[in-house]
Amino acid sequence: MKSGFVNIFGKPNAGKSTLLNTLLGEKLAIVSSKVQTTRHRIKAFLTKPGEYQIIFSDTPGIIEPKYKLHERMMQNVKSALEDADIALLLVDATKDIDEPVELFRNLRLKVPSILVLNKTDKLKAEKIEKLKANFNNASFRKIVDVSALTHKNLDELLLTIIELLPDGEAFYSEDELTDMPTKFFVSEMIREKVYELFSEEIPYQTAVIINEFKEKESLIKIQADIIVQRESQKAILLGEGGKMIKQLGTLARTEIEKFLQQKIFLQLFIKVKPKWRDNDLQLKEYGY
Ligand code: GDP
Ligand code: MG
Repeated sequence: MKSGFVNIFGKPNAGKSTLLNTLLGEKLAIVSSKVQTTRHRIKAFLTKPGEYQIIFSDTPGIIEPKYKLHERMMQNVKSALEDADIALLLVDATKDIDEPVELFRNLRLKVPSILVLNKTDKLKAEKIEKLKANFNNASFRKIVDVSALTHKNLDELLLTIIELLPDGEAFYSEDELTDMPTKFFVSEMIREKVYELFSEEIPYQTAVIINEFKEKESLIKIQADIIVQRESQKAILLGEGGKMIKQLGTLARTEIEKFLQQKIFLQLFIKVKPKWRDNDLQLKEYGY
């Protein structure tokens, strides 16, 4: 039996959440084309009884610590990397990858590292070979080209990971998928819909808290607050005659019902809390 911790590390939008979701076959981490949607670390377990258990962490992307929220994200990245057995640098191979590779090497990790070239469904074979040759000597044990979206080469990636995993018993029971509570995923799904429906600064200045999660006879009642920073943002979220919040609620409900495989009653309130992102107490309250 082999078991250990693998951290997926990479810039926002590289495809970390997509890779995790594909490997785990569940919608564990929210996927969005906008950057910085994953503010928390999510541990997800991939277990083959008697053979291996891989504990993946989806770490928030590397970003400038502009706000307190960002400083916390950087701390999360560091702490995530320090307790790993394997570090996995995931890059969007359709973009310039020198910068993330350089950032990663500057962390001077002692754990074995794998460079994963993602989104290679969009690249020609020659381009992929060229990239692999370029980064061959750059302190990676192995370079694997994949597509998290089309599942290309994910078996090879798994084999590479298993090879580097230490011997050991499983840390979590085989029927567990994640260390996060259901409530967390529900709030992430609501947040995902905010990302889908609104642009510019709104998604980045929004937090979601679940106040009520009650299992009734035929459905689950969920009441959530959407926290924004300004009255003007609240007005945008509400929309004309409540049009937008209604649409948000419908989209989120559909998604949550798919995830929970159960009917839900979803109630959303919008609350204004100025500068919540710079307020330590409030960050704690919202789970950051
Ligand atoms: P994260 O910020 O690193 O977690 O990135 P996400 O998983 O949220 O993905 C960002 C965007 O890239 C989404 O629109 C994904 O659908 C897209 N994406 C992820 N993996 C692939 C891939 O292998 N190929 C292509 N073409 N797009 C991908
Ligand atoms: Mg993500």
